[in-house]
Amino acid sequence: MTELRTINLDMDGTFVDLYGVDGWLDCLLNKDTTPYEVARPLVNFSALARVLNNRQKKGYTINVISWTAKVDDDDFNARVAIAKLNYLAKRLPSVHFDNIFIVPYGTPKHQLAQGYLFDDEEPNRKAWGEGAYNVENLIDQIKKLAWQIKSSNGIIRYKEREVNTMRDIKIEITCPFCGAIHFVEVAERDYNAWWNGELAQRAFPYLSATEREQLISQVCPKCQESIFGGEDDE
Ligand SMILES: [Mg+2]
Ligand SMILES: [Zn+2]
Repeated sequence: MTELRTINLDMDGTFVDLYGVDGWLDCLLNKDTTPYEVARPLVNFSALARVLNNRQKKGYTINVISWTAKVDDDDFNARVAIAKLNYLAKRLPSVHFDNIFIVPYGTPKHQLAQGYLFDDEEPNRKAWGEGAYNVENLIDQIKKLAWQIKSSNGIIRYKEREVNTMRDIKIEITCPFCGAIHFVEVAERDYNAWWNGELAQRAFPYLSATEREQLISQVCPKCQESIFGGEDDE
């Protein structure tokens, strides 16, 4: 029996919105890597970083398997690979991927790794076979993954016991800068511990840095972004 505790993530269309960049195709045809640098997140990167780090702590291997551009030019694709590596380092700095495979367009992904694959392209999922998933609710899907145990007669899944992060109360907060009402959901028990002096990081390990800041300074996520700037990756 082989335990397949590996999560493989495609990038473009899976958690990076390459196809949402204006004129992305023209740029690539003109050997311009800008779209890979400016593509917006398709999911909350802070939440993605958190769930990947949690999974890694539980023994999962976390890989990226991503293709370079569908353009026949090795020099350009080398620059694409660098742009992708930089993007991951800059946008998901707290995630220490076990392997980052940036490979030529069309390379069969199942030749590089096994386990789970999250990929927006159906042909890739079909080629991968068991354990390949589409990318709707990506973060929730990763959270709910069971261990895959592969035996000679197929794959059996076991549900992992979920960590207790029952958020049973909603804290209403008014932003001191813009006046917006915003909310953070936490466990009441944890809220009481924090109120009684526990450090926010310790009381709410499941909150993102942004959510913790909402509680501590009452500044809403939008204003946090304009004040502190950039990504709120923990
Ligand atoms: Mg894709
Ligand atoms: Zn605000």
